[in-house]
Amino acid sequence: MLLHTIEEVRAEVKKWRKEGLTVGIVPTMGALHAGHLSLIKKAKQTCDKVVVSDFVNPIQFGPSEDFDKYPRTLDEDVKLCNSEGVDIVFAPSADEMYGEGQRLSNDTLTYVCPPFFYVNTLCGKSRTGHFDGVCTVVLKLFNIVQPDYGFFGQKDAQQVIIIKKMVKDLNVPITIVQCPIVREESGLALSSRNKYLSEEGKKDALVLSKILNNLKTCYSKGIKDVNALKETAYSFLNEKHDLEYLEIVDKDTLEDKKQADDNSIALIACRVEGVRLIDNIYLKEEV
Ligand code: AMP
Repeated sequence: MLLHTIEEVRAEVKKWRKEGLTVGIVPTMGALHAGHLSLIKKAKQTCDKVVVSDFVNPIQFGPSEDFDKYPRTLDEDVKLCNSEGVDIVFAPSADEMYGEGQRLSNDTLTYVCPPFFYVNTLCGKSRTGHFDGVCTVVLKLFNIVQPDYGFFGQKDAQQVIIIKKMVKDLNVPITIVQCPIVREESGLALSSRNKYLSEEGKKDALVLSKILNNLKTCYSKGIKDVNALKETAYSFLNEKHDLEYLEIVDKDTLEDKKQADDNSIALIACRVEGVRLIDNIYLKEEV
């Protein structure tokens, strides 16, 4: 069922609650692909009822980012959700989410601001305010739906760490479930932004997963020094790759490390054909 208003969603969820059913939410920005579907499948296995939100959230985009051209494919998204047995697709307008005519700024709106330490690193360095926008919309969705479970992808590793921190710090009564990255056979992590890439760009984009897999192999062979590990990446890059960051940090706290260990995660952000792509890998992980 496709719903556009908060009131309709609340009325439906209220009925489920009366029946004692459990509820899960999968927050998305639409343009659904197999990565999103893996979260939806996990939600269906875990909960009686599943809500998928489909909302390109304006307040998590910077002024020079791709909000206007972000792919919007609601009709196809609804079909996919129906075939997965999703109970509600919630696709609000920005006015519905933030109030009609509301100026979208933290001068006038209440924002949720995650701790400086978690945002002043990795994607947060170049995307000022991004995680404030993410946490604000996610907490609003949690308050609208009041779900038992929220499903998030490891693909956005910093995001899921920050959401878990928000839930803990603000005592939100929800269990966060983290789902593994879904990739194309080539190794490319699925992303709605892959639609911007040409066929050649997609080949160039494989460098992200190649670098990460190589780091994991090097780690398994005994290289632990983070600088030495990072050095192994540079030979993969050429003029088609505009590397934003490559970091190895603690997978739960994002703390920098000099020596990698079994709790380390390697994360990369790199532009290909002007498209900003991210990926990550646990250095110690079952394949
Ligand atoms: P988005 O629509 O990009 O905001 O993503 C919605 C959710 O889907 C987030 O929790 C993402 O981490 C997750 N997601 C996106 N791509 C993938 C992927 N390739 N594998 C697993 N989860 C993903």
